[in-house]
This record gives sequence, structure tokens and C-alpha cells, in this order.
Amino acid sequence: MTILVDMDDTIEQLLRAWIHAVNETYGTDVRHEDIRSWNFTDAFPSLTEEQIYDVVLNDDFWKTVEPIPDADRVLQQWIDAGHEVYIVTATPLQGLVGKMEHCLFRYFPFIDWNHVIITARKQLLKADVLIDDGVHNHEGGDYKKVLVTAGHNRAYDAEANGMIRADNWQEIERIVAELEKECS
Ligand SMILES: [Mg+2]
Repeated sequence: MTILVDMDDTIEQLLRAWIHAVNETYGTDVRHEDIRSWNFTDAFPSLTEEQIYDVVLNDDFWKTVEPIPDADRVLQQWIDAGHEVYIVTATPLQGLVGKMEHCLFRYFPFIDWNHVIITARKQLLKADVLIDDGVHNHEGGDYKKVLVTAGHNRAYDAEANGMIRADNWQEIERIVAELEKECS
């Protein structure tokens, strides 16, 4: 199968590191657990969007972003089994090299640049499956949709919208194994 895998908050914990960096920089006190919407800047009413984005638009920020447990093991396993795995991420140009070097290639060294796709229009891609926490990346896509649970999508009815919800990488592994049986 061709499997597309989102990066931010699917294989690494961007939001947790981002909130930490904003709190450190501006003395705010927001907890990752409190975020309930995609537009998390609402959680910092005293700050402008520019101030919030400023802290992540540099290469060094990415040294603080941690991987999500089991993602590396499952991705490696899929590749070993002959699946085509692509990391698909919408990301600003500033900090892109840091994101790749300090995060993706550091924690997922078996992924190379030829298997990275940068786009905000994931629906243009042809694949069997997309693993992603962003509802908007699944909507209208011509692939099986695995919605990775995050604070901002917790209240979303995945099943009613043709998606399969997964809370962690053990569940993702199991779901993709089921989809593989359906595909073959
Ligand atoms: Mg994401």
C-alpha cells in the first residue's frame, strides 16, 4: 500500500513543544491538555498570532519537539513489509531545515528526503491511506482516513464522516493491518 503519514502531532508532539516555548517566551501558563480547537492561538488571548508563530519559525525550536511513542517502530515495520511510506506535511518555509534535521531525520532516520512531501493540499495526493490528526486533511481525500486523536478533534464524530479514529500508534498499526486485508 501507499501510506501517507502526517508529521505534526501524528509522529511528533509539535503542539506540546510549541505551547511550552510560548509559555517560556511570554510568561503565559497554558497547558497542552487544555487545547480544544485547531486554532489554538485562542488559548493565548494576550498574544498576537505573530508572537505565537515567532517562537517556532526557526531551526533550533525543532530540537525541542519529541517523537510520539511507537511511531518509529510502526513506520519502520511498514517499510520493511514493502509498503510505500510518505511523510506529508504542511509547513512554513522558515524552520523547514530544522524540522527535517532536528526532528524527522533524527527520530526517523530510515525516512529520506525523497519520501517527504510538503503540501497544504493533501487531497491532491493519490494513496491508499492517510494517517493525520487534521480533519481538514481527510475531508474530500481519495484515501482511507485514519484520524489521530488530538485535543482539537476529540469532539469530532470521525465514524459519521467516514474516518477511523485512532488514539495511539498501536491502534494505527492494527487499523492499517485491517485495511491491508481489505485492499488485497
Ligand atoms: Mg498534524
